Parts: sequence; C-alpha cells; structure tokens
Amino acid sequence: MLKKVIALVATIMFSFSALSAGTLEDVQKSKVLKAGVKYDFKPFGFINEKGEVVGFDIDLINYIADKLGVKAKFIQVTSKTRIPMVQNGTIDIAAASMTHKVERDGPIDFTISYFFDGQSILVRSDATQKSYKDFAGLKVGAIQGATSGENFLKVQPKAKIVTFQEYPQAIMALKKKRIDAITTDLVWCSTQAKDSKGAFKVIGSTISYEPYGMGVRENDSNFRDAVNFAIQDAVKDGTYAKLYKKWFGKDPETLPEIWP
Ligand code: GLU
Repeated sequence: MLKKVIALVATIMFSFSALSAGTLEDVQKSKVLKAGVKYDFKPFGFINEKGEVVGFDIDLINYIADKLGVKAKFIQVTSKTRIPMVQNGTIDIAAASMTHKVERDGPIDFTISYFFDGQSILVRSDATQKSYKDFAGLKVGAIQGATSGENFLKVQPKAKIVTFQEYPQAIMALKKKRIDAITTDLVWCSTQAKDSKGAFKVIGSTISYEPYGMGVRENDSNFRDAVNFAIQDAVKDGTYAKLYKKWFGKDPETLPEIWP
C-alpha cells in the first residue's frame, strides 16, 4: 500500500513538474517548436504546387525557431481549432492569421501584433453589390472560429451568415452560387481575386481592424518574451520587410512595435 502511495505521489509530482516547465524550456529541450499554421490561407499559410506548406507565417516561424536554436514542426490548424490546440499543448504557438481580440485573450496569450489587416468582401465578378450595405437578405460566407461573421453582422445585421469549416469550402460555394459573398481579411480576399483569373473581385472598403498576433499559452511569459524578441529582431535586421515584400509584393506600411 505504502509503495503504491509513494508511486502515486511520485507520478503526480512528475506530471506537475512536467506541466510547470515553461514552453521555452520544453522547446529548447526537445529542439522542436510545434507551430500551428493555416494550410488554406494564402499568402500566410498554404500548400504550394509542390505540396509544401509555405507562406509569410511559415517563414516568420522558421526565423523564430532559428533564433530559439530549434527546428519548426508545422501542424495544420483552422480558425476554429487554433486556440484549443494551443491550450491543450498540441502546438506551442499558433501563427495562423489570428486577430488579437480582447475576448481571445482570455483562453490564451498573444505576442505583439505582427501584421495589420482589415476585413473585406469577396464576390463573383458579375456581382452588382458595391459594399456591405447591399447585403441585406443575401448569403454571406464566413469561417467558423473567425471574427468575420460577427463583424459583418455588426455593420449589416440583415445579412444571412453561412458558416464553413474551412476556406476552400467557402470558395466552392461562392463559385457554385450557393452564397453571394465571402467575408474575411482583405489580403486573403485580394489574393483569391488575383488567383481566380477574373472570376472573383473584392468590393468596398474594409469594415474592421484585424491586427494579427501569434497565440501562445496563458501565463508562459518566458516563451512569449522570447518570441516577441525574435519578431522584433526580424524587424530590426530587415528580415520582416524582406518577407513582407516576398509575400505581399510591397514594402510594409506598418511595422511591428520595437521596444527600446
Ligand atoms: N483574422 C481573422 C480571425 O482571426 C480572420 C481570418 C481567419 O480566419 O483566420 O478570425
């Protein structure tokens, strides 16, 4: 009996110490940074023609992993799964086009903002609508777990929001005329319009402010500091601007903050 109790106490203490070691220590011990990224949100995270996961978020994570002296391992997340996957330890960090919202700051923490976007509307090229004002009674596609559906209803409460698990399903529905528009961040919308060879276009001006932060575990400040310093290093040594140009085709208008 005593042996069993000792074994139980030892197991509890071991699991506690394993849990309480911070992510930075764990990552440096395992030499692997488990990063949750999108596979369907071009140009932040997507699968290229060669079947590789590439994008702005991927390059930035590789830079951060390098600064931490480890290798990045990429794991697919969606807008819906990214926060729970940070919470349950499946990933150490989510770099997944995620807007830093006050309500999201409850379950997880965020790094400094590293990209600044706003929400827009993608429609078929023959659409006559000019802005969100014209969508009363129309079907607007949004992705589960994204800010987009809620944001759209704030400006156009009469729209009918149709939700999809992932972005490719929404694109298919727009093509097949099952919905009238997709609403999400501008950079994704304009990339889709560009890639559609004239099938889609973007309308109106942006309807929200979407500053992206990387999601990290709550109360894990050594890791969050290390990632924040790495993002700032990327700004200081020009990597950020280089990657921005590579993926967005222009110089950044707003840079992430740099602490003196
Ligand atoms: N940035 C928005 C969000 O975090 C929309 C893009 C996405 O689905 O990730 O919800």
